[in-house]
Amino acid sequence: MNIGLITSGGDAPGMNACVRAVVRSAINNDISVYGFYRGYEGILDNDFVKMDASSVGQIIQRGGTILKTARSKRFFEAENRKLAFENLKKNNIDALVVIGGDGSFTGAKLLSSETGMVVVGVPGTIDNDLYGTDFTIGYDTAINTVVEAVDKIRDTAMSHDRVFVVEVMGRDAGFIALRSGIAVGAEAILVPETTTYIEHLLERLQTRRESKSSVIVIVAEGDDFGGAQDVAEAIKNRYANFDVKVTKLGHIQRGGNPSAMDRVLASFLGAGAVEAVLEGKSGIMVGMEHKKVVHVPFEKAIKHHQQIDGNLLKLAEMLSV
Ligand code: ATP
Repeated sequence: MNIGLITSGGDAPGMNACVRAVVRSAINNDISVYGFYRGYEGILDNDFVKMDASSVGQIIQRGGTILKTARSKRFFEAENRKLAFENLKKNNIDALVVIGGDGSFTGAKLLSSETGMVVVGVPGTIDNDLYGTDFTIGYDTAINTVVEAVDKIRDTAMSHDRVFVVEVMGRDAGFIALRSGIAVGAEAILVPETTTYIEHLLERLQTRRESKSSVIVIVAEGDDFGGAQDVAEAIKNRYANFDVKVTKLGHIQRGGNPSAMDRVLASFLGAGAVEAVLEGKSGIMVGMEHKKVVHVPFEKAIKHHQQIDGNLLKLAEMLSV
């Protein structure tokens, strides 16, 4: 049996640990693994390498992905997905394992339903926005990166009595903002899932300011009010005496050595994907819920979108007095 393997969409720390787990558990089951470069692009270009146990040595601790990743415009077209299927068949690939986020699984679902290709997904995205898994590979590392950066910002904010508005990744989802915001003791957290009432925020900042020298506001980039710059302008317009600074953390959130949690999760899910293929599963994502490996149909993983935890939002607000 032959498995094709890709990493697709935005890169996430822990993807390499997952590649290693897929390759080594496949070899353990006498299955060969072919890694295609740059996600769906590599399948369309027939750009692949046969992977053996040593080809995934010394990568568990490395960020990024040795298979590279890409956002493939071509894969949006049905005729190109047919071409991808033909390439996979020509290379005797029996099943495809896709490590990626919701976009990658949308493509995987179409490939599987249109051509009958066996496809199994593994959630690899820093966003943690997929339904059917408590955490996605890369999320834990990303929030730890945010926490490390904001702790440093807090030092300088306190010394200068400043307000810092920090923008973190999350175009559609506020999971990075929410958990990292709680962990740094942010005075306010703005996420796309809830409406931002700017008046409410401004009033709260004034009361926070009375008791504290520094204020940290964490803003997910997709917040409905706008990005960190817009929020900072609103604060400056209301309180001319506040010294307000903006920091956009940007792509550092994608890089770095994966945390222990991400390496372990990636190892479980990579091995789980190979098991799912052996069990004849297709059109599903392998996730981890309550410490158990679970199988979730692609359409559910994508469409149901993990809900933001209202209790965590309340907790953050209560603790930031
Ligand atoms: P992240 O959450 O980290 O951004 P992702 O997997 O959601 O990762 P996307 O760029 O949304 O990243 O999707 C990755 C790739 O999946 C796209 O470049 C495209 O090749 C494929 N894809 C996404 N949506 C579709 C779609 N509707 N039809 C076909 N292919 C798609």
